[in-house]
Formats: sequence, C-alpha cells, structure tokens
Amino acid sequence: MVRADGAGALMIPLDEHRDRILAAAAPLTPREHALDDARDLVLASPVSTRWPVPLFDNSAMDGYAVRAADAVEGAVLRIVGDVPAGSAEDPRFGDGEAVRIMTGAAVPTDADAIVPVEHTDLGVFTGAVPPERITITRAPAPAAHIRRRGDDAAAGTVVVDAGALLGPWQLASIASAGHDSVIAHPAPRAAVISTGSELVTPGSEPQRGQIPESNSRLLAAALRDAGAVVVRVGSVPDDEAALRAELEAVDADLVVLSGGASVGAFDVVKAVLDVAGSGRGPVRFDAVAMQPGKPQGFGVADDGTLLFCLPGNPVSVAVSFEMFVRPAVRALAGRADRYRPHVTLAAGTSWRCPPGRVQVLPVVIEDGVVVPASAGGSGSHLVASLAHATDLAIVPADTERVETGDLVDVMLVATEREIP
Ligand code: AMP
Ligand code: MG
Repeated sequence: MVRADGAGALMIPLDEHRDRILAAAAPLTPREHALDDARDLVLASPVSTRWPVPLFDNSAMDGYAVRAADAVEGAVLRIVGDVPAGSAEDPRFGDGEAVRIMTGAAVPTDADAIVPVEHTDLGVFTGAVPPERITITRAPAPAAHIRRRGDDAAAGTVVVDAGALLGPWQLASIASAGHDSVIAHPAPRAAVISTGSELVTPGSEPQRGQIPESNSRLLAAALRDAGAVVVRVGSVPDDEAALRAELEAVDADLVVLSGGASVGAFDVVKAVLDVAGSGRGPVRFDAVAMQPGKPQGFGVADDGTLLFCLPGNPVSVAVSFEMFVRPAVRALAGRADRYRPHVTLAAGTSWRCPPGRVQVLPVVIEDGVVVPASAGGSGSHLVASLAHATDLAIVPADTERVETGDLVDVMLVATEREIP
C-alpha cells in the first residue's frame, strides 16, 4: 500500500518497512559458546543430561544413615562411619549400627533411610568427630530423606530445548546435566555511525553551528540493552570519503547510521548508500508513514551486514530504533520475543496527531493514564525531553486527535515497572 503525505510524496506503511527488515534478519549461524559466556543467548541445539540427575542416591538431610527396621523410637545405634559431602566412601554397617551423613553425600549401600540429626537425642552435631552412639527420638519412614538417582531427570533427558533463552536457571540446569558449553546463536555484533559536520563530542565547547553528538550514545546503549555487542562507534562529517572509510573499517552483523538520510543537499548517507544514487549502494530509502522517523533506509551489504539508515533527529532515532532496529537485533539473535509488551491505557490529556502517519510519541504513565513526555509536543528534535519519557504511545495513522480518556496503545519500553 502506498499513501500520499501532505507534500504529495509517496509513503509506505510502517509495517511494510518492518516486514522488509525482518525478512532479511535471519537468526545468526549457531556456534559453540562456553557456558560462562552463554548468558542471554538463544540455544540452537537441545541439551540433554549426560547422566541421571541426581547422579547417585544422596542424603537430603544432615543426620544418620540407618536401616529403617533398626531405627525405631528409643533405639540406640552405634556410629561406625562418617560420610561428608564429596566422600567416595561406602561404609558397611549391620544391625544396631548407623553412619553419620551430610546433605548431598552418597547414601551407604546398607542404609534405607536417613534420620535427621534433629531426630536424635543429641539434636545437633557437636564436632568434627561423630558421636559414639545416638538414640533415635523419632523413627524415620521407609526411604526417608533419600534423594534417588534419576529422581529429577533420567540420563538422556532434554532439560533445555532449542529456542530457549539462556537465563540463570537454564544455565544451572545445563551445568547439572554435565555440559560446559552449548550450541547457541551468537549475540549480534553491531556498529554505530553518526553523520553530520555539526557534531562535536559532548564535553567540548560547541562553536556556532555545532551541537553535541548524542545519537551514538542512545544507539550504543539501546543496542546493548537489546542484546547486541557494540563493536565500533564512529562519528563522521558530511563527507563521502570519510563515511566510506568508516564503513570499510566496520566488521559487524548490523550497522546503524544516523543522519544524512533525507533530502538535504549534503545528505551523505544517501549519497553513499542509496541504490538509486550514483554510487549504487545496497540501501533502499523510503518515506515511512510515521511521525517522527519518516525518512528511513534499509539494505543488506554484499557481505550480509544489515544497514539501517535512520534520520538524524534524536527522537526519530529513539523511535526508529524501537520500531525497526530492536526487532531485527532480536531476530538475528534467534529470540522469539522480538517485540516489547504493549498495554492499552487511557489518555490523560488531549494531543494532535499527524495526518496519514502513525504517531509514535514518547510518553510517561502517571496514575495509570498516559501523557506526552514533552510539553512541547511531538517534535523530533526534543532530545532533552526524551529523558523524561518512559514509553511510546502508538497512535494509528487515521487518528487526527487523541482526546482525554481515549484508549491508547502503549509500547512499554521502561522495564520492570508495574502499571498502577
Ligand atoms: P539530518 O538527518 O542529518 O538532516 O539531521 C537532522 C537533525 O538531527 C539535525 O538537526 C542534526 O543536527 C541532528 N542530528 C543528526 N545527527 C545527530 C547526532 N548524532 N546527535 C545529535 N543530533 C544529531
Ligand atoms: Mg545531517
């Protein structure tokens, strides 16, 4: 579908641009990763237990390994052995005898129940050396407090499936299954390139016409949050040779450029990368029916690198990242959760919306209703106000105005927060 904007330019819908990107963002080829480096990766081959879990019958309590038939209430048992956790010993014992045992230690062959130390006359352990004898104060049920071999999983059981995201619990399960490496999709390697002759480092004194460079900070941090590894961050002036050199130096799965993607006379990204330009680059530039973030470029370089060409305005960068780059990073990483969660909330005030374009508005949620983060409206240059925003309201293209109380679709960007 193609729409005409106010100026008569052809626009493509937001979804069409995103679909084009996601069609090119296949999960990266799986490879082996040390388990210690696998946090937050997506497993590509299922992991099975190398042995039964637990590996051997072991005690669930600190106490005494007994023959249940012997260990009636009031029975006095002679202690003939001691099995701390990690011990390879299997002390044999007979009638009227028992062995001291600690949690996790292998249950002796002659035992069929564990009596916790609390169920003996002494009540506690008094030292490193076991007592000579104990009196049972509460008889154990048969097989009491023995964790059986294979109770949790038989040998060869799949404990973590392909497609699983490796968090702390999955890593523990894989380690217990006997593996110190996994086959997983690697984290996407990302590079960031800011373009603009007006950009200076944030700590310096800008001369007339210069501004602090902020997009690369936003993008590098957002890429890391999305699960990418940022391998290079560069800033180049509006100079084709400088941009070409920076692109040459990049070795990454995706490159996120900002600025120079519109219709300016010095729009360097377009000059170097546009398929339609004299340079015959790999990037197709489109007007996307959204606000902010209308000028967008996307393409795939010869070596497979995904090239995102975002407009330069900082709010446009923030919005474009959430709409297009983040889902692609997740797709490259093999993650099923490509999208942020959404909620529907009432508007706490009214605001105007751009005709014919999806409005993606930085907002805050206050007392359960949603309001724009900036009093100044939805200007794409409002970078200082961006700091107050927590989420993005997404208003359909055919909405001209949001009235107080209207229900609004909100993409939750700020994490771990309850909506009152
Ligand atoms: P452009 O898309 O290059 O026309 O830039 C649009 C606006 O965004 C201009 O006001 C630029 O100065 C500003 N801008 C572009 N790149 C950056 C950046 N990296 N940091 C901060 N502002 C930028
Ligand atoms: Mg520029």
